[in-house]
Amino acid sequence: MLKGSCLCGDIRFETSARPQGPSMCHCSQCRKQSGGVWSSAFVAEDDLKITGEVLWFAASETAKRGLCPKCGSFLFWKAHDEDTISFSLGAVDGPTGLKLSKHIFVADKGDYYEIADGVPQTD
Ligand SMILES: [Zn+2]
Repeated sequence: MLKGSCLCGDIRFETSARPQGPSMCHCSQCRKQSGGVWSSAFVAEDDLKITGEVLWFAASETAKRGLCPKCGSFLFWKAHDEDTISFSLGAVDGPTGLKLSKHIFVADKGDYYEIADGVPQTD
């Protein structure tokens, strides 16, 4: 069982499924919303139990982003045409037991850091 929460604790989530595709996203939307790089993994939507009132924000027509309306933590990302949901690895309480599989949208990354961990990168 993997559990997480936002900074203030109003939003909680948990899953007993094995999260897939742990990644760090460098796209401009994730940069702005997270303040840097957004780390996430995904499970089937039905396998993620969320408690609390999530504020859903549509940064594009293809997906929505879930955050806590009280403390602003960016917790979830959900594409409209997929039955999976991504959750913030940074919001997980305790060890995740996961290992990063890729960096994505690297072409959009900030110019103030380099990625040198040997993990595969995609634009
Ligand atoms: Zn909160």
